Amino acid sequence: MAGIAPQPGIMDIELYVGGKSHLPGMANVIKLSSNENPFGPSQAAQEAVRRVVHEMHRYPSSDHAELRQAIGETWGLDPERIICGAGSDEVIAFLCQAYAGPGDEVIHTEHGFAMHRISALAAGATPVEVAEQDRVVSVDNILAGCTARTKLVFVANPANPTGTMIGLAELERLAESLPPQALLVIDSAYAEYVEGYDGGAKLATQRDNVVMTRTFSKLYGLGGMRVGWGYGPQAIIDVLQRVRGPFNISGMALTAAEAAIRDTAYVEKCRAENARMRAWLGEALAEHGVSSDASTANFILARFASQAEAEACDIYLQGQGVLVRRTTGYKLPHALRITVGDEASCRRVAHLIGLFKAGAR
Ligand SMILES: *Cc1c(COP(=O)(O)O)cnc(C)c1O
Repeated sequence: MAGIAPQPGIMDIELYVGGKSHLPGMANVIKLSSNENPFGPSQAAQEAVRRVVHEMHRYPSSDHAELRQAIGETWGLDPERIICGAGSDEVIAFLCQAYAGPGDEVIHTEHGFAMHRISALAAGATPVEVAEQDRVVSVDNILAGCTARTKLVFVANPANPTGTMIGLAELERLAESLPPQALLVIDSAYAEYVEGYDGGAKLATQRDNVVMTRTFSKLYGLGGMRVGWGYGPQAIIDVLQRVRGPFNISGMALTAAEAAIRDTAYVEKCRAENARMRAWLGEALAEHGVSSDASTANFILARFASQAEAEACDIYLQGQGVLVRRTTGYKLPHALRITVGDEASCRRVAHLIGLFKAGAR
């Protein structure tokens, strides 16, 4: 019987579950579940938005020229080769929509970011999962997973939720060795947290098969505004611009992002504070018998003895008003992802995990 049915693949999508933000009956919850900037958006971004609230009736810029200019100046990139999206999630969706469809394969890695797989399925393409090596992306495994149908390869670097990354030489080797019809997407949502790493910008400048995606949601503290961007070969950006809705980013979000990226002193302060507390938190957890890989991002993947222990710890933390992220959906059931918060939050979560481990022993 004919009926109303969605496109193939859509019902294979498991709904994305964001980090918890509330606990019933509890005020003053410490939220370390969504990798948000613990210091919030810059004052400059807040003031810029206040100055434009009376313009809500106006349609926003459709070419994002001013924001692309600001991004280009900040990172030394050609603004013509930048596309802005409602979060980098939207740029990822554009890439899948434009370059992968039924019969095509989209590679993502074992513990890779959920939106890579979701966007591939939404486009009707076939997601192909490739094993990692001890929670680190393996270029060899990706290359072994490529076929004549591979159209896109997603690598988050640094990766979420593992916090690990591979070097630029490895990314270059991957780009160099991909089959000719495949495009490498370097998801650089956390690139700003890595000293001396350009997120793959140089590769995306020089090669015709590399695109880099970036976001304002993490270091810039604008997750609620939904602004991200992509950078790559002109021909590919021109394609993506065709599938982008003309008014995909609100005027207030554009204004906030432009002010945020120009507030370099604030960005620097947030980056330094994250590095300091990330190191502290990793060591504090290790002292309590909880191991983690050295993180290159703004979170730590804390590994427990078992799934049962990780779940018990999560429940204990919730009872104390602290929210972290379970990573079962990322094939890491024995781990919890903990965002690096401000100093007080880091001390609190480490202290509680210490109490938990002492009790569990
Ligand atoms: C947070 C995150 C994003 C960015 O999401 P936005 O849509 O820009 O908020 C992209 N990739 C990874 C790996 C992330 O963790």
